[in-house]
Amino acid sequence: MQNGRYDLVILGSGSTAFAAALRAAEMGKTAVMTEARTVGGTCVNRGCLPSKNLIEAAKLVHEARHPRYPGIEPYDVRFDFGELVRQKDEVISVFRDKKYKSLVDEEKNVDVVRGRVAFADDHAVEIDGWRIEGERFLVALGSTPVAPEIEGLNEVPYMTSDLLTSEEDMELRELPESLVVVGGGYVALELGQMFSRFGSKVTILERSGQVLKHGYEPEVGLVLQRILREEGVDVRTNARVRRVRSIEGGVAVELEDGNEMRAELLLVAAGRRPNTEGVGLEEAGVETNGHGEVVVDEYLRTSVPYIFAAGDVIGNQLGSQMATPVGAHDGTIAARNAFADGEAMRWVDHSVIPRAIFTDPQVGIVGLTEEQGIARGHRCWCRTLPMELVPRAGAIHDTRGIIKMVADADTDKVLGVSMVGVNAAEVIHEAAMGLRFGAKIDDFIDMLHVYPTIAEALKIAAISRRKDPAKLSCCAE
Ligand SMILES: Cc1cc2nc3c(=O)[nH]c(=O)nc-3n(C[C@H](O)[C@H](O)[C@H](O)COP(=O)(O)OP(=O)(O)OC[C@H]3O[C@@H](n4cnc5c(N)ncnc54)[C@H](O)[C@@H]3O)c2cc1C
Repeated sequence: MQNGRYDLVILGSGSTAFAAALRAAEMGKTAVMTEARTVGGTCVNRGCLPSKNLIEAAKLVHEARHPRYPGIEPYDVRFDFGELVRQKDEVISVFRDKKYKSLVDEEKNVDVVRGRVAFADDHAVEIDGWRIEGERFLVALGSTPVAPEIEGLNEVPYMTSDLLTSEEDMELRELPESLVVVGGGYVALELGQMFSRFGSKVTILERSGQVLKHGYEPEVGLVLQRILREEGVDVRTNARVRRVRSIEGGVAVELEDGNEMRAELLLVAAGRRPNTEGVGLEEAGVETNGHGEVVVDEYLRTSVPYIFAAGDVIGNQLGSQMATPVGAHDGTIAARNAFADGEAMRWVDHSVIPRAIFTDPQVGIVGLTEEQGIARGHRCWCRTLPMELVPRAGAIHDTRGIIKMVADADTDKVLGVSMVGVNAAEVIHEAAMGLRFGAKIDDFIDMLHVYPTIAEALKIAAISRRKDPAKLSCCAE
């Protein structure tokens, strides 16, 4: 710790905080991060990485048991869940050391202080009785799973996505025989499918008429819930939970329609809220909105001129998304702006944020949905095509999914793409690059694509603007 005084004091030590600290150091500034849990934050310790590690393992198990190709016999592959969790922890530990901890060790201008942080007074925070002063501050406290208002929830044992964590009490080390998941967002779907593939009997309870209800094309959730049901996940929509209670060997979940589900484990994945309570924001004069998000302007300045905020803690403001690369990108900008004057400040541009859901098949999304395009005054040309039209999908016996392209009908400028299909999380980058440079439908048509690839889905969707894509020869335009 350097004297308890830094150029930049960062509340949090997640990907947003690290990006900001390293940028500050590049600018010759001293920075300190503060952390109540594990250094590195949500993504590396209990979010992106552990989930993607175990999701891939579950895919291997599933594919062995359900081969897509005639001629390959199903094989009831055996696995040790405890060992899978152990290797997950090892992967995370190596990654955390390489991408987070060692960077702090190597960078003499950056420190981490452990403990709960809160604003103390002007230009100072307090962390477990220790006072740290700073010239500039960045709030990068991330978010936490929401505990919905369900009768009895406080009295039953339940898990959240924190079950993926390592070296913390919430980590799940034994595979549950059955699992009820409350919520139908991306975390619920990724983890629900993963546990089902490992052999748990999984029920997903979504209160609205379909999963992925908000912020996605309706086709995405509808297609995905059908695919999940087909592989044995019990996805229930319009399923509103009335109360939960403990029973012998697990939990009973009572729905408003009178149905009751029993499972060994309850997983609550009903969204996330920013970590802005109990950290003295109000006392420091930092404004939050009705969702508890720190209010920022396009330069990531809060209502206090020397305090900035970025990452999950700003929620969806300015078109942002709660995702690691967005936080890291904005953390860098916030650090730069913290020490820049007026015109040297850089504003954040959230207009092109590619996103993915790591279900199988994957979901890839970028830009506007049809509804958002219309709301912004575009006359929309939209087309949804089945992945069956993509040669590679047919060639590898995996035609699950759809692609939807949204364009301005007057200019042909592509506004958004949503895709459910093999490798959609990779393919979506082509669409993102297109959107970034204002690509039109003909740009996707004229662009030569490798044959046969799933990325051809973009070209085929674009071609459907001009002709029937079902009548194309191989690679034809
Ligand atoms: C299951 C799951 C899967 C995910 N998968 C993906 C994915 O595949 N791709 C992707 O891009 N995103 C994914 N995300 C989202 C991603 O993890 C977050 O968007 C990202 O980690 C946010 O980074 P951050 O730095 O803003 O916050 P965080 O990483 O949450 O860091 C904030 C830190 O502040 C600490 N903190 C909070 N309050 C205090 C306090 N008072 N004192 C001290 N410390 C405090 C917290 O302990 C935390 O470590 C996933 C999230 C989850 C939960």
